[in-house]
Amino acid sequence: MSKKISIYLISRPCIDHDEIEKFLGYREFRWLKTDSASSAEQLVELGGRICYMSFSEDPSKIRYPNSKYILNLIDRGHHSVLEHASWSFIIDGVSRALSHQLVRHRIGFSYSQLSQQYHDEKDAEFVVPAEIAARPELHSAWSRYVEHAHSGYEEFLSALDKGGDQASKEENRSTRSAARSLLPNATATTLFVSANARALRHFFSERGSILGDVEMRRLACAMFDLVVSDSPSLFTDFARSECAEGWPLVRRELPS
Ligand SMILES: Cc1cc2nc3c(=O)[nH]c(=O)nc-3n(C[C@H](O)[C@H](O)[C@H](O)COP(=O)(O)OP(=O)(O)OC[C@H]3O[C@@H](n4cnc5c(N)ncnc54)[C@H](O)[C@@H]3O)c2cc1C
Repeated sequence: MSKKISIYLISRPCIDHDEIEKFLGYREFRWLKTDSASSAEQLVELGGRICYMSFSEDPSKIRYPNSKYILNLIDRGHHSVLEHASWSFIIDGVSRALSHQLVRHRIGFSYSQLSQQYHDEKDAEFVVPAEIAARPELHSAWSRYVEHAHSGYEEFLSALDKGGDQASKEENRSTRSAARSLLPNATATTLFVSANARALRHFFSERGSILGDVEMRRLACAMFDLVVSDSPSLFTDFARSECAEGWPLVRRELPS
């Protein structure tokens, strides 16, 4: 019945280099790109280079490799170019309490979430807060309360049922909408989330190191680990660590 968070990075940027070469060839430009950089990193660099048309036949004029170029863009506050790189994730097994906070991040994020109106929550699972999971004597009491709430949900689903298998879609929606009012904040949910690098950086800065919000920090760190392994240069000013309890942290290291 208790659910653990799983995150899947299901899409990442992919560059069509042939098209870029067509553009560069037409202008008689040359881009000495860093081949080891990811598509996301190259996209951000390309966005910056288009702004200044900084393509040249002369290698001495290509001042920076990709990682240094991106760091320079970030340092100078030219952050809109970070919006060209985006990733999609399936986030499974976070609480509805967390998803309510997550969707407050409006800019550069897109969301699709499991519906409690279309999806029957009879088999719902629940996310145990880390603070309670660490204390077995509290964990069993917590499970009891959650099971009680869930049996209330099932009882009301039956009591409000307007025709079993014959019920219309809207009748089912109405029944589940009313019954779900009994489900706890800990009810596990599944989201499909897409976000660009700028939005993710803002999210990691805001949510990655709040000591009193372990579930959100775990999510932020898990997402950070996936995107940093895909495109490290976009996140070099962030550092991963752990707090005293061993729970993960990610925070932006501001230049001294
Ligand atoms: C510690 C903490 C406690 C919180 N407590 C509460 C709480 O008690 N209640 C509550 O409701 N929320 C709370 N929040 C949520 C918080 O207020 C933000 O809604 C959430 O963190 C998303 O941040 P954001 O608006 O910067 O992100 P986004 O919505 O992604 O926006 C990104 C940036 O775009 C700009 N922007 C976006 N929309 C506008 C706009 N309409 N006008 C001008 N600029 C805009 C801003 O610069 C913003 O920072 C809390 C957040 C944190 C981190």
